[in-house]
Amino acid sequence: MSVPSGTVWPMLQALLDLVLPVECGGCGRPGTQWCRSCARALGDAPATVRPRVDPGVPVWTLGPYRGSHRRAVVAAKEHGRRDLAEPLGVALGAAIVRLRRWGELPAGPLSVVPAPTRARAARARGGDPVTRAVRAAAAHDRALRVVPVLETARGVRDSVGLSAAQRHRNLAGRVLLRRGAGVPRERPVLLVDDVLTTGTTAAEAVRVLVSAGFRPCGVLVIAAA
Ligand SMILES: [Zn+2]
Repeated sequence: MSVPSGTVWPMLQALLDLVLPVECGGCGRPGTQWCRSCARALGDAPATVRPRVDPGVPVWTLGPYRGSHRRAVVAAKEHGRRDLAEPLGVALGAAIVRLRRWGELPAGPLSVVPAPTRARAARARGGDPVTRAVRAAAAHDRALRVVPVLETARGVRDSVGLSAAQRHRNLAGRVLLRRGAGVPRERPVLLVDDVLTTGTTAAEAVRVLVSAGFRPCGVLVIAAA
């Protein structure tokens, strides 16, 4: 090989840029996958949310479901932007560090549970973007351990456009503990999701975690509607 390996990736990237024009996943700015101003927007201090359906633990969001927060979530989920896992993970990780510093989250080891997704929908999208983002967060913080123990049962519909009551009926009893979820229960658990709307998913997930002996201590989302 005459090409030093360190130069292969930038060359490949430049080549890919010719084929697939790169744009910021948060604002559409050309020439970058994730711009500084979107990084700043998602790096803001997490805010407390009080969802209509109370999960019984504190809920925080990186921001409102609009602007770069909304675009990034949609790009990661609907447009196959797997590259956004890293910036979203960094933003989630920074929020966790802050919440610990504020005493809102316990110090020490923390299990991070991605909110349950519809397996088929996630497969169709090439994986679950929330799980990817929390894995990226955990890669930067050794105190975090990703514990993907939740899934939704067959028959759960996409919740877009459903009312709180319909969401509840859609999900009741259908958030399941994954088989083989033999992970230690003693660590505090943070549930992470991309979007919080009514709080139904978070509440159902927390209920299932508690009944399985886990100790949920909060919910963190990328954006709250
Ligand atoms: Zn941007």
